[in-house]
Amino acid sequence: MASLSLKHIYKVYPNGVKAVNDFTMEIEDKEFIVFVGPSGCGKSTTLRMIAGLEDITAGELKIGDLVVNDVEPKDRDIAMVFQNYALYPHMTVFENIAFGLRLRKMPREEINRRVKEAAEILGITEYLGRKPKEMSGGQRQRVSLGRAIVREPKVMLLDEPLSNLDAKLRTQMRSEIAKLHKRLGTTFIYVTHDQIEAMTMGTRIVVMKDGFVQQIDTPKNLYNYPGNKFVAGFIGTPQMNFFEGTLKKVGDNVEIAFHNTDAKVTVPYSYFYKTRPAYLNGETTVIIGLRAENVSLDPETVAKAAATIKVKISHKEELGNETLIYGDINMEGDGYTESSTRIIIKSADDVEHVAGEIVDAALDLDHVHLFDAETEVSILPRIPEFNYLDCDVQGKTLSFLGQSVTLPSVIECESGAGELLIPSDAIKLGGNIVAQVVGIEDILGKKLLSMELGGRRIFAVVDEEVTTSTVGISIDMKKITILRDGQEIVSPMPEVVSFDGNFVKKKVVEDVPETAQERAKRLAKEQKKAAKAAKAAPAEGEQPQEEPVTIEETPVEEPVLTKRKKIVKFSLLIENAEFPAPEDIAQRLIAALSLKRVFDKKYRFECTPYDLTLAEEGIEAEVVGIVDYGEERFARCLVGEKTIYVKLDDSIASLSGTVHLLPDIDKLAIIQADMDIRLV
Ligand code: ADP
Repeated sequence: MASLSLKHIYKVYPNGVKAVNDFTMEIEDKEFIVFVGPSGCGKSTTLRMIAGLEDITAGELKIGDLVVNDVEPKDRDIAMVFQNYALYPHMTVFENIAFGLRLRKMPREEINRRVKEAAEILGITEYLGRKPKEMSGGQRQRVSLGRAIVREPKVMLLDEPLSNLDAKLRTQMRSEIAKLHKRLGTTFIYVTHDQIEAMTMGTRIVVMKDGFVQQIDTPKNLYNYPGNKFVAGFIGTPQMNFFEGTLKKVGDNVEIAFHNTDAKVTVPYSYFYKTRPAYLNGETTVIIGLRAENVSLDPETVAKAAATIKVKISHKEELGNETLIYGDINMEGDGYTESSTRIIIKSADDVEHVAGEIVDAALDLDHVHLFDAETEVSILPRIPEFNYLDCDVQGKTLSFLGQSVTLPSVIECESGAGELLIPSDAIKLGGNIVAQVVGIEDILGKKLLSMELGGRRIFAVVDEEVTTSTVGISIDMKKITILRDGQEIVSPMPEVVSFDGNFVKKKVVEDVPETAQERAKRLAKEQKKAAKAAKAAPAEGEQPQEEPVTIEETPVEEPVLTKRKKIVKFSLLIENAEFPAPEDIAQRLIAALSLKRVFDKKYRFECTPYDLTLAEEGIEAEVVGIVDYGEERFARCLVGEKTIYVKLDDSIASLSGTVHLLPDIDKLAIIQADMDIRLV
């Protein structure tokens, strides 16, 4: 039983393939995690890094509390089950299951107990005397599961274990593995390319594509709230219908118009509270997603539906309990070709349709999904990143939603109307703007507060519980953006500052404390010498010592001596200022890139303005201004051509000229620039 922590994990193969990028997730004890995605997306590579069968290029992997990047696979307390069962053909089932335990020289009775128990759990007790070739595929995979179970691992890793089985057996084994997970109470990580397997087994699923994590969530949330078109299309069968179209706000409604047909449907504007208003201009192409079960041809449903659309039927697929009806919303379309007008409808009714027939279909728009046509990211996010509001600036007064606030002195902008972007994490509780609380939702460990202000819905991500019907809020002005005619006229203060530099090594001669080993050796030598001297010249009147001298444990009071040694020192050269690299950071850089390649690379060092302090020595910077947001002040500096912000202490009244910046080395993100890999 164990939790796992994966932080900024990367894998670059020697041939340069970047198989896994910035994989970060916390896995709780006893979870059943499934990595799913198309072939080549990096799932097996990630699993193999957890197993220790592949080196981790960069990042930190913890099993329980232990960092295991450099721990041998056999010492990681994990067991792995592969697609090809990898059983020894000349051994019986019993011997196959017991093999690993025998290698570990486990007592015979314990081996017997564990094998019998595992065989019972897996229902293969009666086959223990058989050879693998006398068993079916499903039974063989049970044996290989048995071999993993008897190790009583903290984590079970399964790499496509059911791919070699036929469909019926796969379904059966799926539920057996799920049952096994419950019974063992062990953390499971399971790799598959089959989304049905993922959906039926995982407590949480990691959807991957091209080496990048797309979304991590429960099966239900992935289905209901896909964060992008890829996840929407990958999860669920048949695949979600995707159409192209536009959205236009008309009064309190929004018209959804489908491209390549004159179909149009209307929904209340309340559906779009979380959507950037710019998408509702009737011009920007968006992707409209609707699952097959959210379209209905049932005449009663159609009669009552708020939104209907014409469909030309082409053909159907009978699945027994339900029928998939294919058609096109473009009357010229053929319903066979995958296109932006083809539609698949899940139908449970018995109405027969003929090819070419034109029917009305009801759309359940409560379940509509919308994506940006270019980035394919959802434009109806569960947690909106920004609140997009109309605003007006007059002198130093910013007005929005019937509120007026004074702009901090640093924000300068010409008077006039604009679009105001307030990130949902820039709205803080406590303040004198009063908003009505509409709801608070727990989403993926965050609290999303919905509020009504000036007739609009606004959203804030907060830490506190809210139980009142109104709240006072304030806005973190350093995070706002104002746009006018699409141009950014007020920009937020960057949350991250970035420096360039290198990683260097130097040989120096220094007095260093002797190592524990050197010290023990020295003390032993000294004691021996003293004993010898005592023996050679016994004090007068005393008997020579009979007993052999025992070397005592090193006394604690003995001082540690220093030794003059040539040592290698590693430094971070950040914008030409040198900082000693702490041992762990140096080792992580070297481990990631190997000693040979680590020094001739370019690095980017990133931190927040809060992680920099002014000091006597450090990165040379030229102060070009003080950025005063009222509650907080920052120095705007130039380092070479880069603009850097530094949080100022209240004690600093003014600042100008050349200063030196000291970054908090422990908080630095160190990124290898050409490969764009975060190493620390
Ligand atoms: P998946 O398990 O999702 O099918 P993999 O993790 O096996 O994907 O592979 C991810 C990517 O890494 C693919 O592009 C694959 O070709 C590449 N890859 C896998 N193993 C190696 C290897 N040993 N050397 C080089 N490239 C590899």
